[in-house]
Amino acid sequence: MINIETKPISLSPELTIGGNESTLILGPCSVESYEQTRLVGKLIHKLGLKMIRGGAFKPRTSPDAFQGLGEEGLEILRAVADEFDLLVLSEALGVEQVPLLQKYADLIQIGSRNMQHFPLLWAVGEIEKPVMLKRGFMSTVEEWLAAAKHISSRGNEKIILCERGIRTFETLTRNTFDTNAIAFLKQNSPYPIFGDPSHATGRADLVIPAAQSALAAGADGLVVEVHPNPAEALSDGKQSLTLAQGEELFEQATRIATALGRKIG
Ligand code: PEP
Ligand code: MN
Repeated sequence: MINIETKPISLSPELTIGGNESTLILGPCSVESYEQTRLVGKLIHKLGLKMIRGGAFKPRTSPDAFQGLGEEGLEILRAVADEFDLLVLSEALGVEQVPLLQKYADLIQIGSRNMQHFPLLWAVGEIEKPVMLKRGFMSTVEEWLAAAKHISSRGNEKIILCERGIRTFETLTRNTFDTNAIAFLKQNSPYPIFGDPSHATGRADLVIPAAQSALAAGADGLVVEVHPNPAEALSDGKQSLTLAQGEELFEQATRIATALGRKIG
């Protein structure tokens, strides 16, 4: 069934993505403060996980919404990660931010709205750091793989794909989680494939089952938004898990991973 084997990507001696472990990356949508980020970092450490996510430069649909703390957000994220011995995932919104992300992050996210921002793809294609390429919410799998090729053709083969839901006629959920794409890419692409059930559903109550569905489809990892107080979050509060729900996610994800002969790490 598997046509192309996944090529694992090693981020540190402790963390290889795309191997036997499914990687669970937790963190707030946006870095808002040191305390907020530290509470999530502490949970990640307690669960034995190895990477924190958090946006410092936010691609917000409205210019009136919180745009992120910028470099200060990256400083906070790095400080928390160093305290708990974690790696950092954060987004570069434009070409000019790539050097900053190289300095503070271990994995650089290209967001859904930027999947076909070609100069940005070329810029991250020319560096050494691994890149997480999220699927454009109006993009086909073929267009997504072509975007990945824009990165790899500049030399950087360390690409991780992330399905984060696509826009369909369905309005019940923020997006529609395309687990078909996860299963397809697991079998037909060398790049590790992740699922983001937070943006895919837009609803905290659906995040855990959607996360499980991604793992069942073969996902090599998950990126999930967790906030100490979702009701007060400056972005994506409705889809953010509380710290307790983050723990529950870890347990429920472990059950699926175990059934598939994998571990959550
Ligand atoms: C995010 O990860 O917070 C984000 C903005 O994701 P996406 O680009 O998938 O919307
Ligand atoms: Mn978000």
